[in-house]
Amino acid sequence: MTDTAAKDSIHAIDPATLTPAMRQYQQYKQQYPDAILFFRIGDFYECFYEDARTVARVLGVALTARSKGENPVPMAGVPFHAVETYLHRMIAAGYKVAICEQMEDPKNAKGVIKREVTRLVTPGTLTEEAMLEGGEENFLAAAVCGNAKLKTQNAKPGGGDVTTAEGGDIGALAWCELSTGKFLTFVGSAAACREELARVRPRELLFAENADHHTPGWVEDFRSAIAGGSGAGPALTGRPAWQMDGHHAAQTLKAHYGVTTFAGFGYETDGEPALRAAGALVAYLHETQKGGGAALEHLQPPRAFERSRHLVIDPTSLRSLEVLRTMRGNGVEGSLVGAIDRTLTPMGSRLLRNWLCYPLRDVAEICRRHDAVEQLVSEEQALAKVRASLAECSDIERITARLCCRRASPRDLVALARSLGTLTSAAVTLAELAAQGGDGTHWEALMDAAPAGNDIAAEITCCVADEPPGHLRDGNIIRDGCNAELDRLRALSRDSRTFLAEYQSKLIARCNIPSLKVGYNKVFGFYIEVTNTHVEKIPADFIRKQTVRNAERYITPELKQYESDILTAQERSLALEQEIFENLRTKLAERVETLQKLAACAAELDVYGGLATLARARRYCRPMMTGEKALAIEDGRHPVVEQTLGEKFVPNDTAFGEKSEVASQKAEGVTLHLITGPNMAGKSTYIRQVALLVLMAQAGSFIPAKRATIGVVDRLFTRVGASDDLAGGQSTFMVEMTETANILHHATEQSLVILDEIGRGTSTLDGLALAWAIAEFLADTTKARTLFATHYHELTELAETSKAVANYNVLVREWEDQVVFMHRIAPGQADKSYGVQVARLAGVPRSVIARARALMGQLAVHVGKSGRPKAAAAMVSPQIGMFDPVDQQALTQLRALDMNRMSPMQAWEALKALQGMLEQKKNG
Ligand code: ATP
Repeated sequence: MTDTAAKDSIHAIDPATLTPAMRQYQQYKQQYPDAILFFRIGDFYECFYEDARTVARVLGVALTARSKGENPVPMAGVPFHAVETYLHRMIAAGYKVAICEQMEDPKNAKGVIKREVTRLVTPGTLTEEAMLEGGEENFLAAAVCGNAKLKTQNAKPGGGDVTTAEGGDIGALAWCELSTGKFLTFVGSAAACREELARVRPRELLFAENADHHTPGWVEDFRSAIAGGSGAGPALTGRPAWQMDGHHAAQTLKAHYGVTTFAGFGYETDGEPALRAAGALVAYLHETQKGGGAALEHLQPPRAFERSRHLVIDPTSLRSLEVLRTMRGNGVEGSLVGAIDRTLTPMGSRLLRNWLCYPLRDVAEICRRHDAVEQLVSEEQALAKVRASLAECSDIERITARLCCRRASPRDLVALARSLGTLTSAAVTLAELAAQGGDGTHWEALMDAAPAGNDIAAEITCCVADEPPGHLRDGNIIRDGCNAELDRLRALSRDSRTFLAEYQSKLIARCNIPSLKVGYNKVFGFYIEVTNTHVEKIPADFIRKQTVRNAERYITPELKQYESDILTAQERSLALEQEIFENLRTKLAERVETLQKLAACAAELDVYGGLATLARARRYCRPMMTGEKALAIEDGRHPVVEQTLGEKFVPNDTAFGEKSEVASQKAEGVTLHLITGPNMAGKSTYIRQVALLVLMAQAGSFIPAKRATIGVVDRLFTRVGASDDLAGGQSTFMVEMTETANILHHATEQSLVILDEIGRGTSTLDGLALAWAIAEFLADTTKARTLFATHYHELTELAETSKAVANYNVLVREWEDQVVFMHRIAPGQADKSYGVQVARLAGVPRSVIARARALMGQLAVHVGKSGRPKAAAAMVSPQIGMFDPVDQQALTQLRALDMNRMSPMQAWEALKALQGMLEQKKNG
């Protein structure tokens, strides 16, 4: 530590030299060394030493000094009433903040004021509306990763796919959303854990401090999977290793949920790895929330995430399909969710995002969602009514969480009551729909829970004022007539003017002094003033207080009593209001289950209503779902590009599988569509469109098409667009090949694979050879439905050798040396690239275009008559064409060797002879 740094650090200072308050600060700072300590002093949260510098820099507040003179203490502070805004900025900048409150009234304190850290604010444990994105989930995750030890304990994992872990590390994850109470776990291979973490995208990741000893590098590996290409990874928080051991973790969970076994939650043994992560997570919540279990009543029991129920989308695909955010700019606008989110509440918006990241695989389950959307699509009036109700509905889910954390504000409660009322109206509309013969099954849960919601709303409304101020400390929260003592105290302060006027008249009459006045000043409080001319009339119970010019001032025991009543009335009524409010909050927190159920119903109804509105507005169709390996889309449109281009967007057909109803395409036995076409023709748009439509359909949405039959997909892979991972030390080509390797290893016959311009990141020959081999492997071995867009026209010959491959191209017309893009996908291969024409459209200088045309003429001579490089001809049948006769002969002889009948010596000799043959060829 440098000298200045040492002076700036509270840790380096001898406590004996500190004032009592600073000693207290030092003590808490030592307990929370990783957090910025917000130390309450009066109306401010103050920070000192190194924290002061950080806070001044991050928040742009003034850096001052506490004790001026020889050893000034650096100090910076923020006013307490605006603390949420400042906290938000500290968290966004990646810091954790420990809030140290004054626990007693400074007036009553003997010595230094009692203080306590009441909360540790961290990125993964936020609940305040001001610090959260309404439409997005904010997860805290914990991870355990290891090899043999973890595996033996994982004989029956909680819902994970541990079979995929054979031979490698396995991991266990737990993740929860404190602002809603959602809590899930997962056990699987390290790779599967990475994929799931990338979907969950937690803001904070907990791991055991010694984690890297056993399996080096995995924490960073998980972190970068979450960060993806955006670079903004989660905050990493090391935890004591013992909190993640099986015994302690199970103890924590048992104590929190008051259970003796986890069988009821779906976990068979205490030592399951998923519970280790879950236990550590709960321990951390207790530590950060300070209110203990009482503040976490809304945390649901952990539930194993069932991966096999959902379509698996790897992190790269989720990013490159721009499901939640765009690749360029990382914005919501331009993403799938940006285009299709028509929900009206933050709960609905979060659930829609969740459905898009976790599409379903079970046909019946998907159809249930489509049924609900369809019902609302066909009942225009009911849809409008339900949405009018939802438009008035606040975030019940997050208000409930704040209730349980005892942080719900008076306005939160009013919003909750109003929202519960709106849900009742929505439930009435849906009940009417069911009564008219509609299918009411989707809305049963809401119809059942709505009356309980109504009771809760009534409880709030009869206690809390209609328009209360934002904070408890401001008073006037509790409605008049709710509490007799509160009414009395309020009357006292409200009616003081009347009281004083009446008292004055009474005294004037009693003493017969018309000029007698009752007044007030700050120093003496209430007084009775009588001019010197009347002093002899003063009754005996008047006590003299003060002499002023020409007059004397008095008090009476009655006035004194009134004064003390009035002066304390406001304070007492505030305290009483707080007590009543806190009791109400506690009482409502006990209804957490009902509230969470209602929140879930509201979110679902909102998503269905949003999807139905979208389907009506943009003429989406209900896809027919099947378990067969089919994919037939008629007049499909890209959900995002269509919204930008409007009527100009050209719809396209897609057909895989025998049962295709799309007439324009031959589909039987074909699993790979090879799509060629010039630059700018619309290849990428088309293949992404197919992936997005499948994803939307499996998420439960209608899709932009005239008609569609979709055979459910188990995994969706995309390799589109080139991206560097320079920070991770990988070149564009390396990234491309890593992603392709992942696809080739994991795609199954039920998967959908989208590949765009594979192999273009290297030399033409290598690229073509790789693209060829990859396409061949996918068509003949994997047999996944694949859309393969390429600029290598040579690849179209694959259709001649493989029945599983069909050629498609994007139509263009040439008109007076201009290219006109038709954006229409048609069977057959493209004949030309039109690269030079596109370059001209892009504004490349005329001289360069002319030179390129001349060079094209020369190069064509080398390329040969067929219009393709000679290497391509070899690849049509690589086993024969790529080897010369001598190689071929050596290979034939090698194949003919019967190793089972040869001694090691004979085998050696045979190999030597073959080697000799090849050596001879090399030397001429
Ligand atoms: P490249 O090979 O250069 O990557 P590409 O063939 O993949 O090009 P896209 O990027 O998909 O072409 O599309 C180019 C442009 O064409 C898009 O910006 C879009 O505006 C337009 N476009 C694509 N598909 C359609 C369509 N179906 N209807 C109308 N316009 C379209």
